[in-house]
Amino acid sequence: MIKNIGSLFTAPLSIDPVYFVENWRTIDGEPFRITNNGRDYLVDFYRSLCISALKDKKPVVVVKGRQVEATEAALNVALYFLCNYKFFNVLHAFPTETQVSRFSKERLQGAIRFSKPLVPGDPGQIEQCLADHRNASNTVSTVEFRNHNFYYMYSAWAEADSLRGISVDALMRDEFQDWSPSAIANTEASTSQSKYAVEFSFGTPKSANSPFEDIWKNSDQRYFHSRCVSCSKLFQITMDNFLYHDIVKCTQCGKEQTKTDANRGGAWVPTKSVGKEGRVGYHISQLIHPAIPRERITRQQDEWSDSKFKNEVLGEFFTGGTLPLNPADVKARCCEPYRLLDFPGIVSAPRETFIGIDWGSRSENKDTGAYTVATILEKVGEKYQLVRAEKLMQNEYVARVARIRELITLYNCIAGVADIGFGQVECQMLQAEYGPMIKSAYYAPNAKEKMSYNEKNWMLTIDRNAWIEELIDIINRGQLVIPFRRPAEIEWLVDHMCNTEIRVAHRTGNVFKSYEKVNAAEPNDGLHSLNYAYIASVVHLGHNVLGRSPMTSKLQGAVKGGVLLGNFNGKPWSPPRGGVQQITRSDYGRRG
Ligand SMILES: [Zn+2]
Repeated sequence: MIKNIGSLFTAPLSIDPVYFVENWRTIDGEPFRITNNGRDYLVDFYRSLCISALKDKKPVVVVKGRQVEATEAALNVALYFLCNYKFFNVLHAFPTETQVSRFSKERLQGAIRFSKPLVPGDPGQIEQCLADHRNASNTVSTVEFRNHNFYYMYSAWAEADSLRGISVDALMRDEFQDWSPSAIANTEASTSQSKYAVEFSFGTPKSANSPFEDIWKNSDQRYFHSRCVSCSKLFQITMDNFLYHDIVKCTQCGKEQTKTDANRGGAWVPTKSVGKEGRVGYHISQLIHPAIPRERITRQQDEWSDSKFKNEVLGEFFTGGTLPLNPADVKARCCEPYRLLDFPGIVSAPRETFIGIDWGSRSENKDTGAYTVATILEKVGEKYQLVRAEKLMQNEYVARVARIRELITLYNCIAGVADIGFGQVECQMLQAEYGPMIKSAYYAPNAKEKMSYNEKNWMLTIDRNAWIEELIDIINRGQLVIPFRRPAEIEWLVDHMCNTEIRVAHRTGNVFKSYEKVNAAEPNDGLHSLNYAYIASVVHLGHNVLGRSPMTSKLQGAVKGGVLLGNFNGKPWSPPRGGVQQITRSDYGRRG
């Protein structure tokens, strides 16, 4: 547990953090430079964190694009205090444990090992600041420096409880966009006992109306202005005057110049006045970074969605309906009204249900990757009631298929759709038994129709985005009923459903909308499984919840002619002579 012993000594303010960084650190064997190489915006930034923050005690927030060296800046600020002060504790916290150990092993250890020696041949200056008995006490998450200084690196997720009530002199909250409200709350008062009270929260923004945006709004929002080499006036680098390579154009006199030259005499300009309680805010986009050329930014604008480009390149919060489902709304509309409703253990005729299966590789032996999720829906009036949602953790695909069979029997499933992308063999096993009652589904990236059907192999080709859009609409209208008597058992599905955002890309004059994961590291297989169950119901009933048919006339004909119908009314389907037709790659349709 971190204890603040009390800060007995104050370092002389004559040690300039910029001097410290440029004379103590190296990068790739060269001196670490932040002046006269286009990074001059970091000069005031370092001094603000290392000197001004001690005087005015204002917390600093940085909203930034990716790869603009903010974590490196936090590391340098931490090392500055740890090498120059006494009884000084730094807490550098990240959302996940992986980030902690990567930072500790790669960034911090590298900065120490390759710090610049005073005399060639000596150990580096930062290495000499480590406590003598460092080998005994240092771990991935704690490094002790001389003069009773400690560098703590914690995960705000795994060690949230240890963060509560922690007391330190400097707090660095890294990747702040991924911090949970409780982790933020647990660290809120951590510097209140310190006479230094340095607080620095930084990250790459995501959606608007987040805690991160709240603290940014409560800051003076400083933007860096470059200074023209010709007319000496200040101007901002934007998408409009960043021309090519590293050439920018002065908005005052039109002079074209390199970013390195323009940034040299630049200044941070606050754009908002906040009271005493406000924060100091810095905005660092990729546009001002000297090593990022215009061509790369143009490429990212073309290839990335609006939200990703705004977040990761421009460092801006994205508004405008990026998140079609949010957990609070889903719970209010689809869960809370059904607090007394429980999942049935069995469903018998005449009730009929539809099963959707999304295959994945995760199992009891493998705790990463996509889940295999089975979801069962029953159409009740104008609503779809969730009958069962299950993550299948069996290691063997044979065991998973066996469990699906049990579910089909227990819940009287009369039609099903299963993803074929990761479950070709599983689909064939189910179809060998149930015939066309179980249809495989292929999510086509550029499908011309919302859905088409291949009778030869019982495979649906599906416009993924069109179907998910329809499903999301159903959820937002509250037409999905999620039994909520035991919330802990079903909240995972709500998380899967809400890990979805709308990405809009503009290419050659056309607008492409797609539904993607918000957080690529988190699963959303439950949403797809639900989508397949919904598709199974639409295919079988011949219409969607609005009474409209998404099917082609050929497909409707097939349904009417009974070709699609399989194991209905207790009549078992028997496999044709020669077995079920094998599915080949060419049956998947063309990949766009
Ligand atoms: Zn000018």
